[in-house]
Amino acid sequence: MLYKSCVEYANYSLNHVEGCSHGCTYPCYAMMMKKRYGVIKSYQDWTEPKIVSNTLELLDKELPKLKSKINKVFLCFTTDPFMYQVLEVEQLTLKILKRLNEDKIKAVLISKGVYPNALTDRAVYNEQNEYGITVVFSSDDYRRRFEPQAAPLDLRVQALKMLHDAGLKTWVSMEPYPTPNIVKQDIREILRKISFVDRIVFGKWNYNKSTSQFLHYKNFYNSMAYEVASFCEQRKIECHIKKGSINMDLIPDNRLLERTLLTCYL
Ligand code: SF4
Repeated sequence: MLYKSCVEYANYSLNHVEGCSHGCTYPCYAMMMKKRYGVIKSYQDWTEPKIVSNTLELLDKELPKLKSKINKVFLCFTTDPFMYQVLEVEQLTLKILKRLNEDKIKAVLISKGVYPNALTDRAVYNEQNEYGITVVFSSDDYRRRFEPQAAPLDLRVQALKMLHDAGLKTWVSMEPYPTPNIVKQDIREILRKISFVDRIVFGKWNYNKSTSQFLHYKNFYNSMAYEVASFCEQRKIECHIKKGSINMDLIPDNRLLERTLLTCYL
């Protein structure tokens, strides 16, 4: 169940569900990999998630051996831990968090669902867990097109704000951020809505030819990264721009971006 991850912010990860009902059409990298390796046959297969029913038993076996090596566990790389309106997944994720936190292991989460109130209970869940949501659209019209079964944006943000107001660490992934030929929007509208978070991670839209067909896409991503980095600097928000999302050679004055942490965050 627990496996080593290659990212710097959480050295272990787990995926307790096969598939994801959100059915993102960017497309979803996890779905593409599962299709390539024959684990699933179709998009429909992918959007009918199957829980790993013995997850907690596996954790009970693995944690005594691994807990001294784990700093944080990431949930999840290939599914969503708070799948919108899938109570079975939510309940299992809460049990996993409780189990990890009992052993004083912190978790870093990312979701396109709605975080429940229960997470504010410090007697059960570690206050150093980090709760993240993905927000790449300013409007639910676009969200419905590319994240059809995920939670509406306002619900995601409201739930994250509730965790922030309870003193918990929150972050937003702005990846995959679309080029204007995919979605025309003002990035500042998104930034204004998420200005309360502790960290913003920005990354470009991948695995879709439309991005590189946009004539000035390199300049576009440079200016979007600059917008995010300046916003974060003004508000003292930690900022990560994913490597490969910008081209430093094309930026005439890149002092701000040089100060920003360029990272393979996700
Ligand atoms: S929420 Fe994540 S795992 Fe689920 S379909 Fe979307 S991109 Fe894939």
